[in-house]
Amino acid sequence: MEDLVIGIDLGTTNCCVSIYRDGHTKILENDSGGYITPSFIFFPSLDGILVGEHAKKMAESKPENGIYVIKRLLGKKYDEAFTHHKLNGLPFQMECNSANDPVIVINQSNKILKKTPQELCSIILQKLKNDVEKKLRKEVNKVVITVPAYFNVSQREATLAAAKIAGFSVLKLLNEPTAAALTYYHENDSSETNYSLVYDLGGGTFDVALLKREKLNIEIISVNGDTSLGGQDFDNLLVDYISKKLQSTYNFKPKEKDEYCILRSSCEQAKKTLSFAEETTINLRGFVENHKKVEIHLKREEFETIADDLFQRTIQVVDNCIKASGIQKDCIDEVILSGGSTRIPRIQKMLSDYFGGKKLNTFVNPDECVAEGAAIQGAMFSKNPEQEITKMQMTDVIPLSIGTDNHVGQMIFLIKRNTAIPAFGTSNFNTLDNNQTHMSIDIYEGERANVQDNRFLGEMTLQDLTPAPPGQCTIKLSINVDENGILTVSAQEEREDGENNKEIKINYVRGNRSEGEIKNTLTDAEEYKKEDERFITFSERKSFLIKYCERFLYNLDAKNISEKYRSAYETCQETKLKAEQLNFQEENILENLIGNIKGQCEAVAQSNNFEFMPEFVDLDSDLDLSDYFTV
Ligand code: AMP
Repeated sequence: MEDLVIGIDLGTTNCCVSIYRDGHTKILENDSGGYITPSFIFFPSLDGILVGEHAKKMAESKPENGIYVIKRLLGKKYDEAFTHHKLNGLPFQMECNSANDPVIVINQSNKILKKTPQELCSIILQKLKNDVEKKLRKEVNKVVITVPAYFNVSQREATLAAAKIAGFSVLKLLNEPTAAALTYYHENDSSETNYSLVYDLGGGTFDVALLKREKLNIEIISVNGDTSLGGQDFDNLLVDYISKKLQSTYNFKPKEKDEYCILRSSCEQAKKTLSFAEETTINLRGFVENHKKVEIHLKREEFETIADDLFQRTIQVVDNCIKASGIQKDCIDEVILSGGSTRIPRIQKMLSDYFGGKKLNTFVNPDECVAEGAAIQGAMFSKNPEQEITKMQMTDVIPLSIGTDNHVGQMIFLIKRNTAIPAFGTSNFNTLDNNQTHMSIDIYEGERANVQDNRFLGEMTLQDLTPAPPGQCTIKLSINVDENGILTVSAQEEREDGENNKEIKINYVRGNRSEGEIKNTLTDAEEYKKEDERFITFSERKSFLIKYCERFLYNLDAKNISEKYRSAYETCQETKLKAEQLNFQEENILENLIGNIKGQCEAVAQSNNFEFMPEFVDLDSDLDLSDYFTV
C-alpha cells in the first residue's frame, strides 16, 4: 500500500496534525487525546524529555527547564538583535556556539545539555510523529509542514533539517496562509473566479496572503507579513502592564523565573478570556509576600488600548499587501481568518472596518485550519487511493523569468517565466580575461534585455579559477527553484576534479512579486520590445569587440610580437577601454570602433594564426531574438 501523507502545523505556541482521507480532513489527536499539542518541551530533573501539555504543566515548577517559542529562534543567528529582544524575560538560558547559532542550555541531573533550536524543533516533530503512528497504527514518514510565508531561506532550511532529524521526508513546506485558504476552499465550493485575503495571526508570526481562485485552481497573488508579531507579543504587553500594577499597588516586582512564568501564563489566560468576556480577573495566589491572594481586574478595553499599536500594525500590513497586489480592495470577495489570535474581537472589528464593514469568514477552529490545509496539500501529493483528491489543485509557476547578466549587462535567461515549480535552468559561461581569477554572478528576475531594468535577487563570486587564456575557463551556472520557496544558485568551474564550486540560496516565495508588479513588468517588456532588440544587438556587438581586443592582446603577448605590431597593440588596448565604457545609445561610436579594429587587426590576427579569436562573420549574421522574449 502506498504511504499516507500527513500535514503538520508546526506553530510557535501549538502544533496540530491532520490527515486527509476518504474525502475529508481529520485532526489527529495526540497521545493525551488533545487536538493541539503545545510547542513546549520540558527536561525533567532526572531524565527523559516531555513534550506538549505535560511539559507545560511541569515547567510551572521548574521554568528554566521548560523550552517554548523555539520557532522564533529557528534559522536565526545568535547576535541578531531579534534573538535577544524576543528572548528577553524567557526563563531558559541561551548561549552562542562557534557558528554563531543560538544554543539553549539545560541542566538535567547535573548534566549540561546544549540544544540548537533546530534540534529542539525536531524533538517536537518526533513526538508528533510518534503520536500519529500510534493513532494510525502504521509508520508515517511523508509530511507537508507549514511555515510562515515570510520565513527566509535559513528559517526554511532549519525547518527542513529539524524534520529530517525527526525522521520525516518533507514533500513541501507550505506557507501558512495558503494552507488556511486551501481549507476554506475545500469547505466552500465556488465556480466563480474570486479573490480572498487570508489574515493569519498565530502565537509568534503574522502572515497575510492574497489568493485568486479560478475553477479548481488556486494561485497566490501577493504575500506580506511579520515573522515576529503574534499572540506572544500581546502577552508580553500584558505582563508589563500587570507588573506595573503589582509594583504600584503592592510594591512587588516579579523577579524569580517561576513568578514570571506564572504571571505570563495568567496573562495569556486573561487575554483569551477577554475575547469572550468584557472583563476578567487575574488571580495570583501566594504570589506577593504577606498577601494570600492578589486579584487584578482587567477590562477588555484596557487590553485593547495596550495592544492598539500592534493591532494597527497588522492592518497596515494588510493594506501594504493589497496595494502591492494591484487589486482593488473591493474586489476582494472573502476575508479568511486563521490563527488563534484572530479570536480577539477588536482585531476582527478593525479588519471588518478596513473592508467597509465586511463580514469575515472565521473558522470554527482557527487553530486547526492550517494543519488541515497542510493535509489537503499532502493528499494532492499522495499516491494512496484513500487520499485521492479531485476537488482542487494548486499551480505554482515561476511568475517572471530568472537569469544572470553577461559581462555587458545583458540578461541571460536561465528559467523562463511560467515554468512549473520545481524549475531548473543551466548555462555555461566563459571567462573574459587572460588568467581571470574570479567570476561574479548576479541573479535577476524580469523580462527585459538589460539587467538594469530587471530586479536584482542576489549575487555571489566564484574564486580561484584555474588560470587560462581568455575564454578558456568555463563555469557552469545552474538555478533551481524548489517547492519549499528556496532558489539555489550554483556555479561550478568545469575541470576534472570538479572541486571549484559555490552555492547561494535566495528566498523565493511566490507572491513576493504581486500580480500588479508582474503585469507592469510584462507590459514594459512588450512596450520596450523594440528598444530591447536594439539593446541586444548593441550588447552582442559590444561583447564581441571587448572579447576580440582581449584575445588579440593575449595572442600578441603570447607570441612575443607586441613590439612588432605596436600600433595595433595600442589601438586594441584603447579600443577595449573605450568599449567597456560605452553606454547604450552610443551605437555609432561602437560601430566606428568595430570598423577600425576590423581594418587594423583582422589581417594581423589571420596572418599570425591567432588562437581563440571571435569571428567577424558571427557579428554580421542575423541574431535570433525570439528566445529572449517570453511574453
Ligand atoms: P496558533 O499559533 O494559531 O495556535 O495561535 C496561538 C496564539 O493564539 C497564542 O498566542 C494564544 O494565546 C492565542 N489565542 C488562542 N485563543 C485565543 C483567544 N481566545 N483570544 C486571544 N488569543 C488567543
